Amino acid sequence: MLSNKIKNMLNKQSAIRMMFSEGIRLKKELGEDKVFDFTLGNPSVHPPIEVEKAILNVLKENPTYVHGYMNNAGYPKVRQNIAAYLNKKFDCEYTENNIIMTVGAAGGLNVIFNTLLNPDDEVIVLAPYFMEYNAYVSNYNGKLVVVPPNPPSFSLNVDAIKQAITKNTKALIINNPNNPTGAIYSEEEIKELASLLSLAQKEYNHPIFLVSDEPYRELAYDNVSVPYLPKYYNNTLVVYSYSKTLSLPGERIGYITLGANCVNKEKLFDALVISNRILGFVNAPSLMQLVIGECLDITVDTNIYKKNRDLLYSSLIDIGYEAMLPKGAFYLFLKSPFEDDNKFVEMAKKYGILFVSGNAFGCRGYVRLSYCTSYETIEKSIPSFKMLF
Ligand code: PLP
Repeated sequence: MLSNKIKNMLNKQSAIRMMFSEGIRLKKELGEDKVFDFTLGNPSVHPPIEVEKAILNVLKENPTYVHGYMNNAGYPKVRQNIAAYLNKKFDCEYTENNIIMTVGAAGGLNVIFNTLLNPDDEVIVLAPYFMEYNAYVSNYNGKLVVVPPNPPSFSLNVDAIKQAITKNTKALIINNPNNPTGAIYSEEEIKELASLLSLAQKEYNHPIFLVSDEPYRELAYDNVSVPYLPKYYNNTLVVYSYSKTLSLPGERIGYITLGANCVNKEKLFDALVISNRILGFVNAPSLMQLVIGECLDITVDTNIYKKNRDLLYSSLIDIGYEAMLPKGAFYLFLKSPFEDDNKFVEMAKKYGILFVSGNAFGCRGYVRLSYCTSYETIEKSIPSFKMLF
């Protein structure tokens, strides 16, 4: 009855569902306050008050407009405002024709791969990577090519990326700040990557797209800056999202930015808009487009995540665990005390601690902890982490 592709995914999905049910089971067994769930990347910080105000404001407008269809690329006025905002922030030259409103970053990535991929085209990802990339590429019969992890710094391994490039390479996904490591790639690393890709484009005589997946752009701590990739490489498609920046993951709103000097820009824009339509998104949620159009320079209070990071990182290091200090996003990538990270995940459950194995991100020997929990959860979990060590 089901397609083989979906049958495969059902099997993989059940592992995640098991984690959910495991949390519920553990809460019943050990008590609500004895279970410390670090599995999900669901923001714990409230959306800024400006979002609520903008929702109320927008709802005062004509309802047939607010809740209606519009251009498949999104409202021209909102796209113009985003273009002006980016021009000011990053000193670029965008117009509304560089911006396509999407159903979050997930929608944006699917739109891009539907637009670019022919069967067996290759998309390079750098392990550890967001596991949904597997589906977003295979949805369009592309082939995921995984560059091995580069611990303990998880910096860009440009030599390894070079080895992964072939004549079939169509795109490379970069996620900065990174889920799951919390790494932020520096300007030097990005420059090196950009020159590698430029050389590869020449060698193979076709464009190679740099897809910059940036839902965590604003979550960077200690004044570390996140390089803006279109400045370094023309064929960059930025995928932005308000899921984390404004704590609106359920509202499904984001956009794609097409580099101002991207190859065949006009044609590519039209093609991306068609994908947005025919994948069934039709357009990004109307109300949310209008809302974020009024909140472009607003972000959640990132100090809350920074405080969580500082407490979790310093407490775990004091106990003796090993990890890199995350510079951004809201994840800590902890070295498993055993080679088998699944064993570590299982042992942690006995102490009421839930986190995700690194294996799920293509990196054995590590686990991912999401610290977008409450500060109190982290505080209370520390004695259990001590017992686990
Ligand atoms: N990319 C990465 C690296 C993510 O971590 C996530 C969500 O957690 C997404 C994309 C999808 O984000 P969105 O909610 O905007 O679809």
